[in-house]
Amino acid sequence: MNSAVRTPETPMKVWTPSMATPAKRNLWNAMLRGCRGRCPNCGEGKLFRAYLKTADCCSHCGQDFPPHRADDLPAYLVIVIVGHIVVPIMLWVETNYSPAIILQLAIYLPITLVSSLSLLQPVKGAVVGLQWALRMHGFDENEAESASDRPA
Ligand SMILES: [Zn+2]
Repeated sequence: MNSAVRTPETPMKVWTPSMATPAKRNLWNAMLRGCRGRCPNCGEGKLFRAYLKTADCCSHCGQDFPPHRADDLPAYLVIVIVGHIVVPIMLWVETNYSPAIILQLAIYLPITLVSSLSLLQPVKGAVVGLQWALRMHGFDENEAESASDRPA
């Protein structure tokens, strides 16, 4: 039995140029929505179900979130951001006032910890928004199922 035979009930799929070029997604909107903890697609549903755990899907539009692969990028970005804020302040205070080391540690360590933890979720949301807008990983609905399905 040949399963590839077209029956009159199966519609014929006609290729059109619009199928090859999917609609563009707004990168900055998606990153801003993700930064606010909202779905990058609709901006309404919640992106996170816990501090850094993404929800399974958007409660408003049904967008799936598990395809994201943020991995360690949000942590690296937070290190860069916080480092560029805290280190120049430390250097400026040290060169101008040179307070006791214990006083500096008592100020800089909590500031670094609190700012890192408060930036981690927004930055991860922005990274997920970026991946969604660029159709990276599983966010491209027209992509083949997986690389292993492709002929060699
Ligand atoms: Zn949504």
